[in-house]
Amino acid sequence: MLEIENLSVHYGMIQAVHDVSFHVEKGEIVSLIGANGAGKTTILRTISGLTRSSKGKISFEGKGIEKQAPQKIVASGLSQVPEGRHVFPGLTVQENLEMGAFLRKDKEVKQDYEQVFSKFPVLKERKNQDAATLSGGEQQMLAMGRALMSKPKLLLLDEPSMGLAPIFIREIFSIIQEIQKQGTTILLIEQNAKMALSIANRGYVLETGKIVLEGTGQELLASEAVKKAYLGG
Ligand code: ATP
Repeated sequence: MLEIENLSVHYGMIQAVHDVSFHVEKGEIVSLIGANGAGKTTILRTISGLTRSSKGKISFEGKGIEKQAPQKIVASGLSQVPEGRHVFPGLTVQENLEMGAFLRKDKEVKQDYEQVFSKFPVLKERKNQDAATLSGGEQQMLAMGRALMSKPKLLLLDEPSMGLAPIFIREIFSIIQEIQKQGTTILLIEQNAKMALSIANRGYVLETGKIVLEGTGQELLASEAVKKAYLGG
């Protein structure tokens, strides 16, 4: 479904991503793990068209998207939940969800609000509340709900566990699995390697802009190198 070939990304003179190749098959959860600054966010932003690559190819459902505008990429079925949520303050929960459906012209939008509310009941309870007043965990749910309102085939999640209490992290990860079961493919970027690999079909380890290891989620969880570097020994 998504194929990244020999991707390189520079910020001026600094190369943040070095010749990275990986793929995501339809129906999978693929986790990309790595330390702070490894280049995870840069890769996601480049897939979404928010940052431009200096080299390489990004294909989504067989079509090259590396030169497309971000809104075209969203319209083609690829949606990103950004690191730090970035919900729209000053808009209610309901209005934030409406922004997620902005590019849609079909008539199923109304029933999709109900689907989002059934996944995240707390959003329904707070639908008329300013998004800025939500807790961190609730904002993460809203950012995910907003992305789901664009009806993505592939959902890109950037550090959904960041800054959240363990109880919220467990809830968010179980909802990610539910989203997969309902047919959405997921590319997950995480520093919380244990959680990310435990729900992943496959994963990749990124170090200073390069992929150094790949395998199934279980293989990577069992790998000595991963245990030592990312799972506290
Ligand atoms: P984090 O988990 O902290 O977000 P990350 O793995 O997502 O880390 P990136 O944010 O992609 O890593 O950063 C990769 C490298 O690119 C880092 O060295 C970072 O300092 C650099 N970088 C990121 N954004 C910019 C920018 N806008 N300008 C210059 N350098 C940048």
